[in-house]
Amino acid sequence: MGAQLLDGKALAQSIRERIGKETTELVAQTGVRPGLAAILVGDDPASKLYVKNKQKACDAAGIYVDEHKLPASTTQAELLALIEKVNADPKLHGILVQLPLPKQIDSKVILEAVSPLKDADGFHPHNMGRLVEGMPLFTPCTPKGVIKMIEATGTPIEGKRAVVVGRSNIVGKPAALLLLHRNATVTVCHSKTRDLPGVCREAEILVVAIGKARFVTADMVRPGAVVIDVGVNRLDDGTFVGDVDFEPVREKAGWISPVPGGVGPMTIAMLLDNTLESAKRAAGWKT
Ligand code: NAP
Repeated sequence: MGAQLLDGKALAQSIRERIGKETTELVAQTGVRPGLAAILVGDDPASKLYVKNKQKACDAAGIYVDEHKLPASTTQAELLALIEKVNADPKLHGILVQLPLPKQIDSKVILEAVSPLKDADGFHPHNMGRLVEGMPLFTPCTPKGVIKMIEATGTPIEGKRAVVVGRSNIVGKPAALLLLHRNATVTVCHSKTRDLPGVCREAEILVVAIGKARFVTADMVRPGAVVIDVGVNRLDDGTFVGDVDFEPVREKAGWISPVPGGVGPMTIAMLLDNTLESAKRAAGWKT
C-alpha cells in the first residue's frame, strides 16, 4: 500500500483561515493590525515570486504589508538604514528580508540588524539561541511548518528515531532542535556523513533538506516512515521536484509530502503565524 499524502497546501490553507479569524479578532479587540515589512533587494525571479506569494497570503489574512523593493545596486548601508526604520515602526510586528541578498551585502550583518522582537523569520542569533534553549520567541518558518506537518499525521514524535538530512541554519539545524525538544532521538546528516543510506533507513521520521533533485531513493527509506521533503529543485524542463524520489518512495513510506504543495505553502503560513504572534505580544493580547 502506498504512503498517505501530506497535503501541505490544504493544511496551510486551514492554518491561514485560522490566522485570518484571529487577526480580525485582534483588530476588533485591541485596534492592533499585524504588520509585516517585506524587503526584496534585486530582481531574482524566484525571490520576487516568493515575496509576491507571501504578500498575497498576508492580504488574504488581513495582515498589513509594508513592501520595499530595492534595486540590485543597493548598498549595505542603505539596507541597514531601512532596517532601522522598520525596526522603529510600531505598525510593523514582523520583518522579512528575502534571501539571497546581492553579493555586496553581508546577509549576516543584515539579519543581525533586524530587531529580535520583529524577527518573523527567526534567523537572528538571539532567536536561534532561544531556540536552542527551547524557548523561541520566533521559530524559523520552514522547520516550524515541518513539525506541524508531522503532527498532522497523528504520529507521536516522542521516542521516535528522526533523521534530518541537511544542517543549514534556516532548515536542517532548527528542524533537528524542534524534533529534539519533542523528545525524538535525532541524527543530523550532511555531506560528510558516512553511510547516509544506512542512517536514513533507521528513520521513522525522515526530514530531507539538501537541495539535490530526487536524492533520497526508496532503498534509503524505512517502510512506514514519515518522509518530509523540504527540497525545491528546478529541472531543465522548468518543473520542480523535491530532494526525495517521490513515486518509488511513496510506495514504501507511511506518509510523504509532495513537492510542490508540501512544505512550501506551510512556510508561508508560518510566516503569517509568526507575524500574528508578534502582534499579539505587542498588543499584550493573550488567546
Ligand atoms: P543549504 O544551505 O544549501 O544546505 C544544504 C545542506 O545539505 C548542507 O548541510 C549540506 O551539507 C547538505 N548536503 C548537500 N549535499 C548533500 C549530500 N550529498 N549528502 C548529504 N547532505 C548533503 O540548503 P537549505 O537552505 O537548507 O535548503 C535545502 C533545500 O530546501 C533547497 O532545495 C531549498 O530550496 C529548499 N528550501 C525550501 C523551503 C521551502 O519553504 N519549501 C525553504 C527553505 C529551503 P554540508 O553542510 O556538509 O555542506
